[in-house]
Amino acid sequence: MGRLKHTALKAAICFFKYTKVHWLLKPVFKGKGVILVLHRVLPASSKPKPRIAASSRIEITPQFLEELILFFQKKEYDIISLDEMYHRITAEKKERPFVCFTFDDGYADAHEIVYPIFKQYQCPYAVYIATAFPEGHITLWWYMLEDLVLSHEKLTFTCKGQNYSFHTADSKDKEQAYATIRELILNTSKSQRQEVISSLFSQYDIKQDCYAEQQLSWSQIIELANDPLVTIGAHTVNHYQLNQLAESDVYNEIINSKILLEDKTGKPVKHFSYPFGGPDEAGKREFKIAGKCGFHTMTTVREGAIFPGHRHYLNCLPRLEITGRHQNLTLVDMRLCGIVTLLRNGFCRIISV
Ligand SMILES: [Zn+2]
Repeated sequence: MGRLKHTALKAAICFFKYTKVHWLLKPVFKGKGVILVLHRVLPASSKPKPRIAASSRIEITPQFLEELILFFQKKEYDIISLDEMYHRITAEKKERPFVCFTFDDGYADAHEIVYPIFKQYQCPYAVYIATAFPEGHITLWWYMLEDLVLSHEKLTFTCKGQNYSFHTADSKDKEQAYATIRELILNTSKSQRQEVISSLFSQYDIKQDCYAEQQLSWSQIIELANDPLVTIGAHTVNHYQLNQLAESDVYNEIINSKILLEDKTGKPVKHFSYPFGGPDEAGKREFKIAGKCGFHTMTTVREGAIFPGHRHYLNCLPRLEITGRHQNLTLVDMRLCGIVTLLRNGFCRIISV
């Protein structure tokens, strides 16, 4: 989101917060329910300060996760599985509003921290897994990059024959360098990416091995899959930006993650989420391809609630992202009233493409 748009959104949120006009929107935007997208749940003390904001934004605390569960229970939302949500979208029945908790990627905390919490409350949740995580084929370069930037006051490296130099002495410079290098890596073709990552980190004392334990293992995934409270969904193999790939590669990324997860867990994988999932990473072409892979539902990170009309858009269901930056129940409540959807899409309620 551009800086201007972000500032306008912040100003609008302040306006709604103080006028409470958003309550008028609730009947229009509440819909049948909402799917939440989260990534990591970690105690605040688990990583030393300071952090890079773009990296810590995907983490919430276990306390806030519990607060969220209690918040939805108090508001008389049914906390349901993706299978149940699929039935409710396609059924005509009028029921209590629902919320689905979904966790993207395949971090180990989906088992070590999230699982005991949902078990304690006997609530269902889903984990969408990029299979390169448990296969150990993915480098968590975004955490390596965070450590690299935080531990150096200057960075120089050569990438694809070009020399780069960053001053990283203060926090503003560190944030800027992180963002620029992240873009550089993300914009490298998939065939060259590992080479770029290796060449960058090999110039510094940042080892890949110590990050592996942050990824779910197959034994953890199988344990989760065997509990009826947990749904295992697919999230591609390598977590690439799908719209940068050839059509056949998009199909293979999606279907191969489904096949491997089914093979390892012995259970059908009926749900999928798009890596990154925003309009810049997945659109009509990707929705069409995923729609042919045999899933019941497919989710993005476009923000919106689920309406009966979404039965025609099961390959691009919107979600509501909960980030570390906004661990605030008042804001969650305002977003349930549809303020972000309104500001981004006007009175269009069926958020799809
Ligand atoms: Zn993801």
